[in-house]
Amino acid sequence: MKIIKSAQGEAFDIELEESLLEKNRRLAEENRAFLTKKGITGIDVMGSIGSGKTTLISQMIIRLKRRYKIAAIAGDLTTTLDAQMLKRAGARVIQINTGKECHLDAHLVKKALASLPLDKIDLLFIENVGNLICPAEFPLGTHKRLVVISFTEGPFIVVKHPYIFTESDVVAVNKSDLARNMRVAFAKLRRQILTIRPQAKVILTQARKGEGIKEVIEALALGV
Ligand code: MG
Ligand code: ZN
Repeated sequence: MKIIKSAQGEAFDIELEESLLEKNRRLAEENRAFLTKKGITGIDVMGSIGSGKTTLISQMIIRLKRRYKIAAIAGDLTTTLDAQMLKRAGARVIQINTGKECHLDAHLVKKALASLPLDKIDLLFIENVGNLICPAEFPLGTHKRLVVISFTEGPFIVVKHPYIFTESDVVAVNKSDLARNMRVAFAKLRRQILTIRPQAKVILTQARKGEGIKEVIEALALGV
């Protein structure tokens, strides 16, 4: 089959894009140093729309809120639905509405950090915009990256979106109750993820029922 590949330097906006990515990386480093100095652990949570990011974060907040002072930054194009859910779970929440942008970036996170009472926080979840493509290229300056995928995304979710896994620390494979109906095998997804990122911890979850949450917390080194 004939395949047309976009070569390096071929796309119109490549120069702009490279300086943009470079600037973002620099700002991300600043964010990470800043969070570290403040004693805050930052976790970037990435995944498609509907994979269960908000539900998983809420479940972690409920289990961790007595041990940590938790804040969350919710990235979304236009709504505050996720922010409201995270607030109900027990976190201080800042909403970032990105408008037409399909990912958060380090600059937006820096702005959000400025409006959080950082001395009263020691754990920060950042829910990225639901998207498996560009969030991979825009580090935010967190200490850990958690990717949430779900069985409803089908058997090719990992092989079609390899880049989101390349810097992931933990991958939650969510909606385990639907695996059979979707004819997707956990072992196969796990193998594909580990091929891309051998050091990732891959965990089966059903966030809505609270299954696998404890394991995700431990994999993120947030357990006692
Ligand atoms: Mg969400
Ligand atoms: Zn984007």
